[in-house]
Amino acid sequence: MIVFLNGEFVEDHQATVSVFDHGLLYGDGIFEGIRAYDGQVLELDRHLDRLINSAKYINLHMPWSKQDLRDFVLETLRRNELHSAYIRLVITRGRGDLSLDPTRCTTPTIFIIATEVNLYPAELYQTGIKAVTVATRRVAGDALDARAKTLNYLNNILSKMEATAQQAHEAVLLNNEGYISECSADNIFIVKGQQLVTPPAHMGALEGVTRNIVMDIAAEIGLQCQESPIRPYDVYAADECFLTGTGAELIPVVELDHRPIGAGVPGKTFQQLLKGFHKYIKAHAVLID
Ligand code: PMP
Repeated sequence: MIVFLNGEFVEDHQATVSVFDHGLLYGDGIFEGIRAYDGQVLELDRHLDRLINSAKYINLHMPWSKQDLRDFVLETLRRNELHSAYIRLVITRGRGDLSLDPTRCTTPTIFIIATEVNLYPAELYQTGIKAVTVATRRVAGDALDARAKTLNYLNNILSKMEATAQQAHEAVLLNNEGYISECSADNIFIVKGQQLVTPPAHMGALEGVTRNIVMDIAAEIGLQCQESPIRPYDVYAADECFLTGTGAELIPVVELDHRPIGAGVPGKTFQQLLKGFHKYIKAHAVLID
């Protein structure tokens, strides 16, 4: 596998970063998860815009333009001869010393890994997944803004461990007020009648690129979509529930906290949105070649 690291394309076993890298020492960095389908990258601009905003948020000066970043991503795919892939773009504060002080880090580290996509087993897209509300809370948005995609994922990992220990596929994380924020690596939507609801960013939700796509599709097919606070009760009482993410795409949730959601099977609105999503992929992508 060829990895892009600090301006060079190298074999993955040669792609090493310093033990003094502040991304490793302190989670001081930002990232994006991006997806390519059949030779096209989906919503590359939206991902890069979010990355650039995350960099502004953590006050990391990037010496690369948006066009540079675009070229690095596309070239990583070409070098690996990948047409469909999951792409991880990571930028850290770079090598410093053992103090927290980011001014000791003179050059950010950048790397891009492109791999085969591998998330939930295929049958779960047909049957739906089980989720549990976990004890681990989402990092408070007034401590770390949920819109920034930083390397601070420890609580997401703890939440995933809790879900796995309970034989569930996904964790639903609450914020400090007991409202649902999102899942360990996905946004959440519920359907009630003709209404789609997803938690707003200020409740602790990442402004997911897939979440935005679903909102666009909903508008196109005449479904109302609102960003409103929801509690576990709203999910128990919903007709349908599903998650969105670059890796997961759209996946139905048929059970939360051992309660079936709606009829306990993937619903009609989900199927409709999934169809719309597949169409959207074809219509809105950047060609690799
Ligand atoms: N929330 C979290 C915590 C995530 O890690 C992700 C995956 N990037 C998402 C939501 C979904 O965002 P996107 O649709 O941009 O992948």
